[in-house]
Amino acid sequence: MTDTTDQSRKGRVAVLGAGTMGAGIAQVAATAGFSVALFDVSKGQLDKARASIAQSLEKLASKAKIDAATKDRALSSIVTYDSVEDASRDASFVIEAAPERMELKRELFTAVDRAAPADALLASNTSSLSITEIASVVRDPSRVMGMHFFNPVPLMELLEVVRGVRTTDANVDRAVTFAKTLGKTAIVVRDFPGFATSRLGVVIGCEAIRMLEQGVASAEDIDRAMELGYRHPMGPLKLGDLVGLDVRLAILEHLHAELGEQFRPPALLRQMVRAGKLGKKSGEGFYKWTADGPQKP
Ligand code: NAD
Repeated sequence: MTDTTDQSRKGRVAVLGAGTMGAGIAQVAATAGFSVALFDVSKGQLDKARASIAQSLEKLASKAKIDAATKDRALSSIVTYDSVEDASRDASFVIEAAPERMELKRELFTAVDRAAPADALLASNTSSLSITEIASVVRDPSRVMGMHFFNPVPLMELLEVVRGVRTTDANVDRAVTFAKTLGKTAIVVRDFPGFATSRLGVVIGCEAIRMLEQGVASAEDIDRAMELGYRHPMGPLKLGDLVGLDVRLAILEHLHAELGEQFRPPALLRQMVRAGKLGKKSGEGFYKWTADGPQKP
């Protein structure tokens, strides 16, 4: 059981974007004892995030992973905002989890640079984009880094800390300590397209989609190949659904432009995204998703 009985607040974490990842990051920060300012441009998304966090905390409490007091305290320490400046104002850590588009991230960091305290760490949860480029809009790029969390954030142990060209050692150390406070294990990687995790992960995911296009096997059997043959906890197509196929496509487009042909997005993936089949979040991807989880495609 996570021991979070310490009532003293550890400072404020601002999370920008309340989608799949932002909601999860807000939850783990609140559970670890931080007060959390959660910002999104969509009011509906903020409501949805709060409901999903409440449901996830309830589930963890029912499995005795956290106690009831921690659950209640975590939920009450998350405050939602419709202004990025207000959310960032008193933060010690700002973590951006908005869509995977460089111009959007640059806009957010420009606003955060003006609003957040001068000693706050500014992090992006980007899966693939250049931290150094995001940092270029900030007056002090030494405090900008990647903090790449994994989905579902409350369950996944890894935090990939990405060091931009100008990020200082002291700030990387602060990020690694922060990861520990959240109960995560950090790895530190250099800012290079796809970092360590996305670059390896999307190769398998992309190849699995090509195999489905070529009729090599069914989606279920391709997933079983990796689950039973290689002990992956989840097959690559199911994982793609969980990540979000629109998110996967954005990562592949970026890595294709940066690293070349092996990352060219498969036509099937593009078609599915155009059709609104985004995976778990839209209810259908390579699988149909219900309250009971992924169903046979
Ligand atoms: P998502 O589509 O689920 O959520 C994005 C959220 O950002 C939405 O709620 C949207 O309303 C909000 N948003 C849009 N414009 C905004 C703005 N200007 N300011 C603030 N919020 C805005 O996406 P996600 O899956 O949570 O991904 C977010 C980031 O995390 C991306 O950079 C992605 O590459 C990265 N990431 C995703 C995963 C994953 O498994 N989904 C894993 C690791 C990293």
